[in-house]
Amino acid sequence: MTLPCDLAPAYIRGITPYQPGKPLSELERELGIHNAIKLASNENPQGASPVAVRAMQAALADISRYPDGNGFALKKALSERFALDPRQLVLGNGSNDVLEFVARAFLKQGSNAIYSRHAFAVYALVVQSVGAAGIEVAANNYAHDLDAMLAAITDNTRIVFIANPNNPTGTLLDAGALRKFLEAVPEEVLVVLDEAYYEYLPHELRAESIAWLRDFPNLIITRTFSKAYGLAGLRVGYALTSASIADLMNRVRQPFNVNSIALAGAAAALSDVDHVARVVENNFLGMAQIMRGLSNLGLTTIPSYANFISFRVDRASEIYNELLKKGVIIRPIASYGMPEYLRVTIGLKSENDQFLHALAELLQVEAQRTS
Ligand SMILES: *Cc1c(COP(=O)(O)O)cnc(C)c1O
Repeated sequence: MTLPCDLAPAYIRGITPYQPGKPLSELERELGIHNAIKLASNENPQGASPVAVRAMQAALADISRYPDGNGFALKKALSERFALDPRQLVLGNGSNDVLEFVARAFLKQGSNAIYSRHAFAVYALVVQSVGAAGIEVAANNYAHDLDAMLAAITDNTRIVFIANPNNPTGTLLDAGALRKFLEAVPEEVLVVLDEAYYEYLPHELRAESIAWLRDFPNLIITRTFSKAYGLAGLRVGYALTSASIADLMNRVRQPFNVNSIALAGAAAALSDVDHVARVVENNFLGMAQIMRGLSNLGLTTIPSYANFISFRVDRASEIYNELLKKGVIIRPIASYGMPEYLRVTIGLKSENDQFLHALAELLQVEAQRTS
């Protein structure tokens, strides 16, 4: 007997499901505790701006109405912030949604897209979901190898995905090298520059990526409200690109993909620059705290430019499970080809302490057992 699932395309049946971080409530239920912490999904430990929360509460009054399908107010705020034409913007239900539009609008069976090994998992997912081929290029010491990615481009390549900084490695590309790469990529090949962690970068390390849109009509920049803006649960992200690319991406978008609460919350969050500044400051201090703590434990880290850090530890998978038992959720990254590493999100000072303390205890027990 043939069942519907047997007839689903092989490329759909072959998709490896994305593994989200373990939810806090689930772990607390399992352990019967209430003080667990989650440093697993690069969420913002300081939460959303109160200005955004008030705007979302106010938006509830109109919840019986469909949202503005063109996101006029949010696009206006973004286009003013970045000095772009609103027609150069595409809004998404998270930037993951936007990544999917790129795949749906530009790929088909027979074409391919390029991304780096150890890069964000969603690139492979969106490419595979439309039946195109993903070409994974070896990384250079965990960072994107731009020369190798350039060399991997074939006649059938339509998209190159670049995460900068990358998740889960936290690596950052040099702005000059990135610009040279854009100059070398054939003009018919799209470059998706995923800048989900852009706001965390010190100004001197930021690429002038938005200004590059003028020089590179094949460039698509994606950003999100999930990280520095603290709105991961709300699901809002966006793309900045040429008006003609944005037009095609908007055609494959569901008419009301960003809900009205999200439109209101994101626009208000964008205006609260002080909140973002506090978030970035906490991240800077927390990164130093965790780096110091991990180094005191003799662990190797990959220097990170985002709101998380990956570190190398023996028996990583067991350490992850032991940390869970102590009420600390971090992230194993074996599915990113890094089975010997774990990734921890920068939390509040007290959370970082709780994580470091739990890890120190485990490593001590481990050292006693093997001595
Ligand atoms: C977190 C993250 C995103 C954001 O995804 P959203 O759908 O906007 O929540 C995008 N790219 C990378 C590399 C990320 O780590």
